[in-house]
Amino acid sequence: MAKKQFKAESKRLLDLMINSIYTHKEIFLRELISNASDAVDKLAYRSLTDDQVGLSRSDFKITLIPDRDARTLTVCDNGIGMTRDEMEQNLGTIARSGSLQFKQEMAAKEGENQDVADIIGQFGVGFYSAFMVADQVTVISRAYGSDEAWKWESAGADGYTMTLCEREAAGTDVILHIKPDTEDDDYDQYLRQYRLDSLVKKYSDYIHYPIVMEMEHSHMKPKPEDAGEDYKPEYETVKEWETLNSMVPLWQRPKSEVTTEEYNTFYKEKFGDWEDPLAVVHVSAEGQVEYKALLFIPAHAPFNYYSRDYEKGLQLYSSGVLIMDRCADLVPDHFSFIRGVVDSPDLSLNISREMLQHTRVLQVISGNLEKKVKAELLKLQKDDREKYEQFYSAFGRQLKYGVVSDYGAHKDMLKDLLLFWSSREGKNTSLAEYAARMAEDQPSIYFLCAESVEKAAKLPQAERVLDKGYEILYLTDEVDEFVMNTLSEWDGKPFKNVCDDDALPESDEEKAQAEKKAEENKDVLDFVKETLGERIKEVRISKILKSAPVCMSADGPVSLEMEKYFQRVDP
Ligand code: ADP
Ligand code: MG
Repeated sequence: MAKKQFKAESKRLLDLMINSIYTHKEIFLRELISNASDAVDKLAYRSLTDDQVGLSRSDFKITLIPDRDARTLTVCDNGIGMTRDEMEQNLGTIARSGSLQFKQEMAAKEGENQDVADIIGQFGVGFYSAFMVADQVTVISRAYGSDEAWKWESAGADGYTMTLCEREAAGTDVILHIKPDTEDDDYDQYLRQYRLDSLVKKYSDYIHYPIVMEMEHSHMKPKPEDAGEDYKPEYETVKEWETLNSMVPLWQRPKSEVTTEEYNTFYKEKFGDWEDPLAVVHVSAEGQVEYKALLFIPAHAPFNYYSRDYEKGLQLYSSGVLIMDRCADLVPDHFSFIRGVVDSPDLSLNISREMLQHTRVLQVISGNLEKKVKAELLKLQKDDREKYEQFYSAFGRQLKYGVVSDYGAHKDMLKDLLLFWSSREGKNTSLAEYAARMAEDQPSIYFLCAESVEKAAKLPQAERVLDKGYEILYLTDEVDEFVMNTLSEWDGKPFKNVCDDDALPESDEEKAQAEKKAEENKDVLDFVKETLGERIKEVRISKILKSAPVCMSADGPVSLEMEKYFQRVDP
């Protein structure tokens, strides 16, 4: 039978993976188990509303079968299975969300093999990782609701075949033909029961279905009562099915018992990131609604974050059963970067997904989580500024959008989290920090808008404010000025654009002086006015310049920077 080719990008990835110097080959098991668990999740969810499934929660399991004679390791599940098309789609290509991002990263690092190996090392590449330890992979799967099973077979980058076959019930067997041992690599270990047992405990302990394996144990036979002096103990081998994992999901365990390493691995594996999260929020709530939540703040924005394609949401479980993969109602838009899991026994399983979205329970949880995330971010801002800056450069813009959205409804939630460049500090500062540095008589909080910090510092209008000893926030993001307008003040101190005529208050004396000056220069002013005529609105002696001779200025509520912005969006 003709072999089908992998899609081009899959082939490249396969080659890379198989040939790269890869130190953590053992993660293949975690990947296959996680796929099996996802598949079981799907059927388990189905069984709640569909009597035809005929399985109850306790029937679901994942089975490992090592066979040393045949040199195979089989990972078997009774989950949802795959149709022929799904097998071709899912196993013949890797153009899916997480992998896509990986591809981008890889393209950026093209040619640097070591880096590629590093990325592979940190990133779960799912099903394909099987080829790190196997020279032949066979997948037999029967989709739930279908009466035919299919066999997918591949020996690596040169393609795969598909044939019709048999399987008793819905589910999938992934059969790895383990590579022969080499001088550098011990592949035999993946056929040894104790090794497999410890790998499951290390990587897949929290999987909430039993991962079972038939274990052989040697026992000493009981000594017969009539045993003589020269009795030698006899041994027998007993085979027993054992559950290898504790099945307690990470979020159900007490915070104090979970290591950072475990959180990080869980995050990377579950959400397909290759970088550790910046922070973890682990909540166990028992008030009006009981729930556990495990939230992560990613270290970088996903490539599609600021596009329509990005889907926010948290995984929602009810007592360990997955109900929804991306429940959008659990996170507000301004915190849409949060990834994580929420598990609550207070959610009824039989409720339809649509209705679920409107339950009070979700509202309560989402409100609580919003506060927890904010608290965590503030903590980071205070205790680990470097990390916070990293967070802010990835997601700060989203916070600002949050401030200006819904007519400022979320501004109080978000204002403490904002950072702007400080003229005095030469780095980012929060509004609270600015306010704390203010002289008592400083009337306003000053800002100016510019394309960059360098340009901001040169703006002529800044001079007189800086000379007063006042600090200026340099706003360089398009949305910043809208943010200032929406917030309008901090602790009673108004925000003022240094370009406004009344940016600095005038004493009576100064006012009188200005009037006198205008009077003295009346001739010049009139001359300019007459000469330029209709083309200008007004000629006056400016108060906003100090040593610079001229500046551009705008009249009315829209600043020059804003005008530029509007011209760009709506020319
Ligand atoms: P991911 O799990 O991140 O989607 P993988 O490469 O691990 O990526 O798996 C690819 C896809 O193959 C899965 O999304 C799933 O649709 C399918 N798949 C893999 N293993 C199984 C399985 N045991 N049962 C059903 N579907 C599976
Ligand atoms: Mg997977």
